[in-house]
Amino acid sequence: MASCFGDMLRMFTELSFCKSGPFAQFSDWDLVFLLEDTSKPIVFMESLIHAREWVTLPATLYAIEKLVIDVTERDLVRDIDWIVLPIANPDGYEHTHVSARFWRKNRATGYMIANICMGVDLNRNFDFNWGTGSSSNVCSETFHGARANSEPDAQVISNIIRTHGQRIELFLDIHSFGSYILYGFGTGVLPPNGLTIHLAGVQMAQARDAVKWASNPNYVVGNSAHVLYGTSGSAQDFAQNSGCTLSYTYELPAWRNTGTINGFLVDPDFIEQAGFETWQGIKTGARFALNNFRARQMLRKQNTFSKE
Ligand SMILES: [Zn+2]
Repeated sequence: MASCFGDMLRMFTELSFCKSGPFAQFSDWDLVFLLEDTSKPIVFMESLIHAREWVTLPATLYAIEKLVIDVTERDLVRDIDWIVLPIANPDGYEHTHVSARFWRKNRATGYMIANICMGVDLNRNFDFNWGTGSSSNVCSETFHGARANSEPDAQVISNIIRTHGQRIELFLDIHSFGSYILYGFGTGVLPPNGLTIHLAGVQMAQARDAVKWASNPNYVVGNSAHVLYGTSGSAQDFAQNSGCTLSYTYELPAWRNTGTINGFLVDPDFIEQAGFETWQGIKTGARFALNNFRARQMLRKQNTFSKE
């Protein structure tokens, strides 16, 4: 395992590959697996499903650093398996660097009308309530694609969730902007464990509020439809409905509290802070998830014994 860490470090600076060992990867360089033991819960996080949300990448990279390089939370590495997908929309992300800084969707060409309007909003393409709270207009920023899970980028995430869903205790889809911790469902209906989801969300928000920049607002916690807007086909909802116990969308702070499209910009001074303050939420959520997982296991054992 240790021999692979150096490769993972280089992966984000030189885009070199880490192809061997237990770190099976869907593509050559953009997915990190730390899977060891099927008896452990999994935390799965991904960022940049929306290409222009650059400030989200430091959040996942910081987490990787804290999990494999500068490990100060040994319990989180020992007791939890991790899956991290830093660049969930690689074609879109590249496009924001070379051509259009505020591009949101992927770069699918199959839906174009008269050579205009590329791309699918990946966060409306997942197979849960697909097409009910999104757009069928290919030119829209929330165009949902031809059918649920039509896009390869969404399929990568869906496959991870389908493969490991029952073991994923915490799923984090990291976005910007607006200082929110959101949960399902996008229809406004709560999942059966809504209270637990909310409690964990509040703990994560408090951990982030404690270290956030004073100029940024506190994080708001709530159902995504009630505190922001209705959606369908989101990664958050698909994960929640597929057996992930605690599923959230993080919205990182806006650039200089700007409500316009400039909110997607990033102050260089905020890059490390974005990683640091998001990690406070991640580790708090991971510990909550671990305790929740163990409590359920204990309950299951007690039920087994009581039947003997
Ligand atoms: Zn987003």
